[in-house]
Amino acid sequence: MQSKTFERNSTADSESRREPRDGGREVIVLRVAEIFLKGRNRGSFWKALIHNARRLLGDLDGVSVESHYLRAQVSHPPELRQACIDRLDRLFGLASMAPAIAVDADLDAVSRAAVDIARRMPGASFKIESKRRDKSFALASPEISRTVGSAVAAATGRPVDVHQPDQIIHVEIGPQSYVFGEILPGPGGLPVGTSGRVALLLSGGIDSPVAGWSAMRRGCQASAIYFHSFPYTGDKTKEKVLDLARHLARWQGPMNVHVVHFTDVQKQLREHGRAEFAVLLYRRMMMRTASRLADAEASKALVTGENLGQVASQTVENLAVIEDAATLPILRPLITHDKLEIVKQAQRIGTYETSILPYDDCCSLFVPKHPATKARIRDLQRAEEGLDVDALADQLCRDTEHITVSG
Ligand code: ATP
Ligand code: MG
Repeated sequence: MQSKTFERNSTADSESRREPRDGGREVIVLRVAEIFLKGRNRGSFWKALIHNARRLLGDLDGVSVESHYLRAQVSHPPELRQACIDRLDRLFGLASMAPAIAVDADLDAVSRAAVDIARRMPGASFKIESKRRDKSFALASPEISRTVGSAVAAATGRPVDVHQPDQIIHVEIGPQSYVFGEILPGPGGLPVGTSGRVALLLSGGIDSPVAGWSAMRRGCQASAIYFHSFPYTGDKTKEKVLDLARHLARWQGPMNVHVVHFTDVQKQLREHGRAEFAVLLYRRMMMRTASRLADAEASKALVTGENLGQVASQTVENLAVIEDAATLPILRPLITHDKLEIVKQAQRIGTYETSILPYDDCCSLFVPKHPATKARIRDLQRAEEGLDVDALADQLCRDTEHITVSG
């Protein structure tokens, strides 16, 4: 090892833009967690993760995603590091990511990369933590750490502290060796697509976008269904829902949005049943129609932003009445969440600002002062007597506009 080489580079050049020297490549090492628990499905999970990473990063010049032996890395020009990190923050299935320098399994090259990494990080004392993935490599981990540690200390003048270091520099020796400092959290969850397709009932409110995001995070590929009651809910509301869908598409790629023109049927429902059941009649009709639309695109479940007790009508009894009209399972990711948690999550994922724009909720149309809070399924079945609910649902499916949006 030649510490001279290290010193030559010690001028305070722009840290994040500097090219690693001597063949080292700027990469981001992708790390997964739960995917590996999935045993038999491991291969398809991995494939989906890589596919999704390529979709997220595809348009960045000089960026590529490489995968071998269930390891993945993103190679990128130094100036695109932050752009890549920002996008990988939307790669579900990613447990964490480490901006790294990739080098051959050569101790000199590893030491030089470690010096580069040390110079990018604040703090004084450091410690090297080594892992040997290639057991045929001549040195054992403690010796690797000692050798690389001395090189970094010599080149930077920083002290080694194995007990309470300011920074830890990680060295992984393998077919491709990596040196990295910071490990950034990924969004977690499972790769979009690995849990199949679902249809999200997307309104313009705060909850349903968060519910959709949560389902995507668990590996679902979502389409959206929106019930539009023009002119009572105006075109602005529809645009708002489409904006929310576009935002959600940033995590999964293009999203199909089905806009169901609901007004006529909604009026018939309102005029038919007892006023106190109006909202439940609407909701049951939504479930019937959404089940059909979902079926037609091979979605296996519906997703809603329903929550227990958030409003007086969100009771277990009413949820049962609504669910009774669906022919697909209903996933309710937010069922037990506090409103405040949902709001915070909406702010974190960036849907909140759009959700709070003033809008009209189609279910608040033609609604009585005192909606039923503990309805029974047979009351609703009776309320629907004389209506051909299946024909109405079929009609709504025909009156549906299909739009595809991208993030
Ligand atoms: P959100 O904030 O998502 O509107 P909410 O707290 O207002 O939810 P409700 O209005 O009771 O709750 O709606 C419960 C769920 O029913 C929504 O989260 C959504 O999934 C679905 N939903 C309600 N209205 C519509 C609509 N017009 N189009 C599609 N789905 C809807
Ligand atoms: Mg709502």
